[in-house]
Amino acid sequence: MGGFIARESEKFERFSEWFDNVLLTARIADNRYPVKGFIVYLENGWFVIERVRRRLEELLEEDGHLPMYYPIVATLENFSREAEHIKGFMGEVFAVGKLRLGGEDEAQQEAPLILRPTSETIMYPMFALWITNHSDLPLKVHQSCAVYRYETKATRALYRVREIPWNEGHTAHATGEEAEEQLKKAVEIYRKVLDELGIAYLTLRRPDFDKFAGAEYSIAFDAWNPDGKVNQVATVHNLGTNFSRVFGIEFEKREGGKGYVWQLCYGFGYSRVLAAIIAQHGDDLGPIFPPWVAPIQVVIVPIPYKGREAEVYGYAERVYELLRGGYRVKLDEREDMTPGEKYYYWERRGVPLRVEVGPRDVEKNAVVLVRRDTGEKFSVPIERLREEVARVLEDITRSLAERARGKLSEQIVDVKSLEEGARSIEEGKICRVSWCGREECALSLRNSLGAEVRGYRYDIEERSDKPCTVCGSQGRTYLYVARAF
Ligand SMILES: [Zn+2]
Repeated sequence: MGGFIARESEKFERFSEWFDNVLLTARIADNRYPVKGFIVYLENGWFVIERVRRRLEELLEEDGHLPMYYPIVATLENFSREAEHIKGFMGEVFAVGKLRLGGEDEAQQEAPLILRPTSETIMYPMFALWITNHSDLPLKVHQSCAVYRYETKATRALYRVREIPWNEGHTAHATGEEAEEQLKKAVEIYRKVLDELGIAYLTLRRPDFDKFAGAEYSIAFDAWNPDGKVNQVATVHNLGTNFSRVFGIEFEKREGGKGYVWQLCYGFGYSRVLAAIIAQHGDDLGPIFPPWVAPIQVVIVPIPYKGREAEVYGYAERVYELLRGGYRVKLDEREDMTPGEKYYYWERRGVPLRVEVGPRDVEKNAVVLVRRDTGEKFSVPIERLREEVARVLEDITRSLAERARGKLSEQIVDVKSLEEGARSIEEGKICRVSWCGREECALSLRNSLGAEVRGYRYDIEERSDKPCTVCGSQGRTYLYVARAF
């Protein structure tokens, strides 16, 4: 019995070095690709993304979203049609065209195409062709793909990249109320996947000056990060009729007459979710993967004693056979490594549960289970192995989530003055600030605290009975202010 509390000082004190190191040693990603902002996803990182993708797509499709795949390019003309949208994205688009060879006539060059930074202007001209009658609504589609943003700030693997793997959902509805109903469902689907991963986050309505370009309003999921910079993992936007008006998505209403559809779009960032899993659950040794996404869920390490090797390996095979089929399990029979080296090797790769098998276990017809998250060790009779593994993996999932939520509430601090807020931001905190509701006070907060105003709670109503921290008039709610990736 016994155990230890996982040591996790590295990620809080030296986040960048810790994170980059974990990506490589745990075979998650390699950011040494020679184009800025593009990385290679290695087998463990991509495995986790694939599991998350399947779960998210399953929930979206249960809710009636049709899986589709749209082109990666838009014409510059379509891309430019919604004025706010182009204003928001123009500074960060990749243009593509034919590689110009020597001697070609410049006059024959075609206008460049835009590599999708998001797909509204690619999908909606098609929506206009498909939607003509109220019976064509609602239309709900989703696609998992990569989007491209010409990031000019410093890039960081998984958090701030130029090639972003994500899922985007797009819906069209006959009324604004139906669109609102769908928005709640989309928030619920994202919430479910993030909760299953044990990620702790704030669900915030963004201030108007920070909403998605072309949206009426935006809801965002901000996950906490050890260095205090919040990580926006997903967003849901109500587009109103802003896009349907410019793309001519009109339909014959049930009650007669024509109307523009009401639209939503939402995105779930796979690489940022992967980053949150690593950053929130990891410790000094490396990542701790929630069992349902772990590339290997259980590793079996035999502890052979001289003269009893065959016995121990035979028994380990039996344990492997018992677990295979139910779990992603690995039997580590490498002979050039000691058991201790193997423990370390698999701990650094985030395997949530280890099974140790030595001569004493053979005699007792038992095994020793060791939890990656707490280090807790205990003996289990072999006839109860499968149910104990199931129980422990479930418990790991739960305790990872609990620990992450605990850290989030530790990171949020109530501040009563701008000076206190600025100091807290320096210390890597998320500040909760009483606010009167006026935009100029929110903008002033951004400047005084040197951080981003992330918005106010969407999931619950937080009423403030304190004065606005900026102007001193009656506060209405609380704003969350933090540095962000
Ligand atoms: Zn104010």
